Amino acid sequence: MEIIIFGAPGVGKGTQAKIISQKLEIPHISTGDILREAIKNETELGKKAKEIVQKGDLVPDDIMGGLIKDTISSEECKNGFILDGFPRTLPQAEILTNIFNELGFENPIVIKLSADDDVIIKRLSSRRVCSNCGYITNLSELKDPDTCPNCGAKGTLYQRDDDKEEVIKNRLKIFHESTAPVIEYYKGKAKILDIDGALPMDEVTRQIMEGLGVN
Ligand code: AMP
Repeated sequence: MEIIIFGAPGVGKGTQAKIISQKLEIPHISTGDILREAIKNETELGKKAKEIVQKGDLVPDDIMGGLIKDTISSEECKNGFILDGFPRTLPQAEILTNIFNELGFENPIVIKLSADDDVIIKRLSSRRVCSNCGYITNLSELKDPDTCPNCGAKGTLYQRDDDKEEVIKNRLKIFHESTAPVIEYYKGKAKILDIDGALPMDEVTRQIMEGLGVN
């Protein structure tokens, strides 16, 4: 199954994509994670992307298109995948259609998660990530703000640089201007599951699995 999970930053795409990836046994491809890893390892891609990602701007479409083509042409993606964070612009959606045609994939299923901006700003500014296991959590859910609830590591929960308030506002502006129109591109081309991302996490997962016809 080829799935795109679509929605504003902070709506829960990464969390849900990880769960679906495990349940369906397909790789989770997060372009944000790939870029953050490249920045950490100071690769050529990382050097090009660093300042752009820190400001919450978009990495150019040609760079992102090449990266996605390499990733989804790989052996591990041949039985499907879930794309998280791509496509983020109309040109990226067109690039993806061309790659799907070349590789012989059917139209993707699009999971669209929505939530109001104020819910998102609140969520993102209290989001924390574990540097040890990659778990994404929220300060409001933590009994002990110093311990990862997933792996138990201490002092590993950190705030992403781009989850600071000014950067969040820029990311949301870009989402509304450049990314939101992508959903129009898929209307009539792909099955779209429209899900309320403000619902509790388990309920969002349940609705996604029901929509995908998997239980
Ligand atoms: P994310 O973790 O998906 O919120 O992505 C973090 C940051 O990586 C974004 O704010 C962008 O700077 C960059 N990024 C991720 N995916 C893309 C994409 N498809 N196109 C352009 N930039 C991207």
